[in-house]
Amino acid sequence: MERYVEQLLGDIACATEDVDVPYAFQECSIHDWIPDEEENRSAPRRMLEEWRRIRQARLPPDDRLTDEQLHRILDALKSMLDAYNWSFVLQIQVPERVQYQAIRDNFNQEAVVKQWHMGFFKLCRPGTPHGKCALRKFCQCKFYAELFANFEDDDLTPEEERARALEIEVDHLQKKYGRDWKKYYPYHLDPEYDDENGNPSDYGVGKESDVDDDDWWKH
Ligand SMILES: [Zn+2]
Repeated sequence: MERYVEQLLGDIACATEDVDVPYAFQECSIHDWIPDEEENRSAPRRMLEEWRRIRQARLPPDDRLTDEQLHRILDALKSMLDAYNWSFVLQIQVPERVQYQAIRDNFNQEAVVKQWHMGFFKLCRPGTPHGKCALRKFCQCKFYAELFANFEDDDLTPEEERARALEIEVDHLQKKYGRDWKKYYPYHLDPEYDDENGNPSDYGVGKESDVDDDDWWKH
C-alpha cells in the first residue's frame, strides 16, 4: 500500500500545482468585482474529478490506510482543494479518519470556479439528511442549521446580522489563509469602512463614476 500512497501523493501534488483557472485575487482587475451571490450564479462549474484529474476511485477506503498514511493523503487533498479555492473547512473538531471519509464520499461534486469569493467543498451529499452523511455526528449542516435556528431566536437587527456575518467570514479567512488573512479582508461587511452615506465598501468599483460626477463643471 505504501508504494500506492506515494504515487497518489505525487499525483495530488501535481494537480495542486497545475491550477488552470485565474482564480487568484491579484490577477483580476478590481473593476470586475461582483458580489458573492452573483458569482455563485454566473461562475463556471466543473466536476471535481474532471477539474483535478484525481478520480474518487483512486482514494483508498480508509480501512486500508494506517493513521499516518491517511494523515498524509488528507493533508495533500486539503492543500489541493485550497489551491482550487474550493476549501474543505470544518467548524468543529473532527477526527481525521472521519474527515477523510467525508472527502472521499463526496469527492466528485460540482465545484464553482470562483475568482472573487471563497468557495467551499460541500460536506454533505445533496439530499442526505443532516447527521446521516459521511461526517455522521460531526455533520456540519446540522451544526449550521442549529446555529441559524439560534440566530432567528435572537431576533437580530440588520447591524447585528452584519456583525455576525463579518465574524463568520473573518473566522473562515483566518482558517484558510493563516497569517495572510488580512489581504482578503471583507471590507463590505465592516461598518468602519462604510462610505460617508453609510453604504458598504464597494472596493473602489464605483469610484470612477464619482470622479466624473464631481468634475462635470470643469468641462
Ligand atoms: Zn452532513
